Amino acid sequence: MNPPLTSQPELPLNFHSDSNSSESINAVISTTPSPHCILCGKPGILLFKNLEDHLYGAPGKWNLVKCESPDCGLIWLNPAPKADQISKAYRQYYTHDKGSETFFRKLFKNLYFKISQIPEYCVGLAQARKRMKALYLDQQFPGNMLDIGCGDGLYMHHMQKLGWKTEGIDFDEKALNRARFFYGLNVRQIDLFDASYPDGTFTAVTLRHVIEHLPDPLATLSECLRILSPGGTLVVVTPNSESLGYGLTFEDWRGLEIPRHLHIFSWTTLKLCAKRLGIPPEQYQVFTTATGADYILDESFALQERLTDQKQAQTGPKTIHFLRTLRAIALQYREQLSLRFDPSIGEEAVLIIHKK
Ligand SMILES: [Zn+2]
Repeated sequence: MNPPLTSQPELPLNFHSDSNSSESINAVISTTPSPHCILCGKPGILLFKNLEDHLYGAPGKWNLVKCESPDCGLIWLNPAPKADQISKAYRQYYTHDKGSETFFRKLFKNLYFKISQIPEYCVGLAQARKRMKALYLDQQFPGNMLDIGCGDGLYMHHMQKLGWKTEGIDFDEKALNRARFFYGLNVRQIDLFDASYPDGTFTAVTLRHVIEHLPDPLATLSECLRILSPGGTLVVVTPNSESLGYGLTFEDWRGLEIPRHLHIFSWTTLKLCAKRLGIPPEQYQVFTTATGADYILDESFALQERLTDQKQAQTGPKTIHFLRTLRAIALQYREQLSLRFDPSIGEEAVLIIHKK
């Protein structure tokens, strides 16, 4: 999930994804039962039934369940795609691909950037955005880092400018080609476990909007900690199911993204992840942020209307929906201000682990 208000170069046309045959797109995704919570082992209670993928048109109807434990509340797909079937959910999934935009949409975004600077600074959003842009590594001495799910490398490019030596992995070869083409980055199409990095290779490992896609997120986080050097930092950013946006849009909330998001985390469940990984409280922090709220809320309202950016991108240049977007922006300010009184309400949750 990429915030829409970041500046990125336009793509050469030949970098856009190819269309797939309707036969392969509609291939049935075989599933397997997943009755128990991966964090606490408790059963899940049905939350939403027969959901469809209105973003990228993956086949099937999907149920989301929520852990019955009030101390947990993890949300997950049950049944879930079988491990060898997950790729079918990504047949039309174009990561980090903005598509083209109408003149008025670009004009509105430019105006928004200029006009919003002062109020964003006043409520603390500008400062929060700056920290999120570096995934909270901006106050650390630069070292070498691995970005898992690096996509088109915009984040790695930013970190290189801050002095970091960067490496990235992703499954999306087209996005990786963009990373090589635009920024000349060191990126590979390889699974983290297949990469077999030696112990303590990196001073930082980052996963932005990755763990919700994984069948076994705890195993991946353990592997990240293994390849992190002592004193290194692991940063995880994921949609927060305790957010204001979820409370407003429920099954249409952008963070659910069935069936690609297998587990939906939260402020509470990220803390449980750290606990399950055996991390002492003084070595990790969990908080939520409203920095992505304008995008997530706008897309969630679009999903309610069944008129998403992705759907627009398939039919022509993306246009602007003033009232919807203004509502999302207003709610972002409300969310940012509410964080002072309710730290769980941000649209994204962040886990930062400092390895000893
Ligand atoms: Zn649980």
